[in-house]
Amino acid sequence: MDVLLEKPWLAKYPTEIPHHINYEEKPLFAFLEEAAMNAPEKVAVHFLGKELTYKKLYLSSLKLANYIKGLGVRKGDRVSIMLPNCPQAVISYYGALLSGAIVVQTNPMYTERELQFQLVDSGSKWIICLDLLYPKVVKVKASTEIDHIIVTSISDYLPFPKNLIYPFIQKKQHGIKVQVTHGEKTHLFKNALKNSSTEKIPLEINPKQDLALLQYTGGTTGQAKGVMLTHYNLVANTTMCINWMYKMKKGEERILGILPFFHVFGMTVVMNLAIMHESKMILLPRFDVEDTLKTIENQKPTIFPGAPTIFIALLNHPDIVDYDLSSIDSCISGSAPLPIEVQESFEEITGGKLVEGYGLTEASPVTHANFLWDIRPRVKGSIGVPWPDTEAFILSLEKNGPAEPNEIGEIVIRGPQVMKGYWNQDDETAASFFEGEWLLTGDLGYMDEQGYFYIVDRKKDMIIAGGFNIYPREIEEVLYEHESIKETVVVGIPDPYRGETVKAYVVLKDNESVTEEQLERHCREYLAAYKVPKIFEFRKELPKTAVGKIVRRVLVEEAKKQT
Ligand code: AMP
Repeated sequence: MDVLLEKPWLAKYPTEIPHHINYEEKPLFAFLEEAAMNAPEKVAVHFLGKELTYKKLYLSSLKLANYIKGLGVRKGDRVSIMLPNCPQAVISYYGALLSGAIVVQTNPMYTERELQFQLVDSGSKWIICLDLLYPKVVKVKASTEIDHIIVTSISDYLPFPKNLIYPFIQKKQHGIKVQVTHGEKTHLFKNALKNSSTEKIPLEINPKQDLALLQYTGGTTGQAKGVMLTHYNLVANTTMCINWMYKMKKGEERILGILPFFHVFGMTVVMNLAIMHESKMILLPRFDVEDTLKTIENQKPTIFPGAPTIFIALLNHPDIVDYDLSSIDSCISGSAPLPIEVQESFEEITGGKLVEGYGLTEASPVTHANFLWDIRPRVKGSIGVPWPDTEAFILSLEKNGPAEPNEIGEIVIRGPQVMKGYWNQDDETAASFFEGEWLLTGDLGYMDEQGYFYIVDRKKDMIIAGGFNIYPREIEEVLYEHESIKETVVVGIPDPYRGETVKAYVVLKDNESVTEEQLERHCREYLAAYKVPKIFEFRKELPKTAVGKIVRRVLVEEAKKQT
């Protein structure tokens, strides 16, 4: 039995790995203030050629805080932000926190209905949005409590002459020229920052009780719910990240910001990590393979947090080997399973480390990861061990207690990064904790004797065909091993005889062709007959969320309609 396990069923971070856990009981914005004091001239944000120092970032955030205070924002009020990754996204986030508000991140890709639901549910009266999204906000405004809209444009933070050309590019790309008129209730972000005070607003924040973030989740699995994350939750998870990346040098790292900040993964492992560690964040407003490769070559990021679809897309670029990607030192992949071949090829091309981690919005989000450096072995195909100060075990599906090693059950978590609960949903909150303190993740997995965890599937995604439990991920892994397959997702579709039947959606690599029979033969070689997909459907692309997670639900619903 490994030292990881003080009780055979409970896993913790290994004690011999250097980590000091001292979760400071400070508001999250205190770290920006410190960075501005310690490293005022250091670049905090790089955005398409424009750079912002820590001092400028802090002063801009204070100005925004004072401006929105003037619009009535008080401690505990919810302020929505609907922006892609850009300097304004960081200023808005920290500005809202410095005013005492709770940030509500809003996915720019939301439909009007989703946007309206979130604005109403969170009770936001203020929203900061991109000019391109302004018409959408205006459309839903009347059916929400939104009172003030602050609008910004990408060009507000572009260097000269890109800022002058941008409106024409925008018109060409989006077919519209957005015009926002400054009014009593519509405010221009750049004006808000012009004459506002840089005084610090006096606030009493109790980091363990007061919320910093209301982060909506469940969009890919069901009705969205607001996850209440405190200042302490976010500070703890970011501190854990720093401890885990213990070779990272304070003030010297450059972090690539492709993961969107409106998702908690990008928010913690790019934005908050950079600020707490006085590093530079290199932001890209959207993921484009070529732009990303060029940015890596020119800006030389050392840390690259991403999701499997991002790494897969980069690897599929025909000229990837022509780019100099050697600055990349460490990458963490989360949000979805990382195929082993992708991990190996990416490490070979960059010379850096790419390890799989795991988490969920309800845990700010990271709870597990593999080791970046070789103090302990990395186990491919595993999500690693719990992060510092995080405890995890597998809850048996049979009995009301811990499972045996290697037995599949539900992963449960306890730690300082775990949410306070769901916003205005006491019943949902109670139902998502085991014995009132262990977060039920809804993910099925198992733990081996060494305390490494493996994800088998979402509890909800498990397919039951002819009485057999089938885990789509196992089939997807086999399909990914086929050289023609670029992306795949396996779902269960209704079947009158077997309950459900297995269907695989497949996207082929460019210039590859393969038949259903060939794929079936490939699966038969590695899988028991009942797991082999009965139907294959070839697609050009698969529906994805903003962090690149394939949205299984959309395909299941489509398939249901067809049967
Ligand atoms: P979200 O709350 O949007 O961050 O989604 C969290 C969910 O993403 C988890 O409950 C898992 O189902 C899934 N997830 C995250 N990381 C992984 C991973 N490494 N492998 C498989 N699924 C993952």
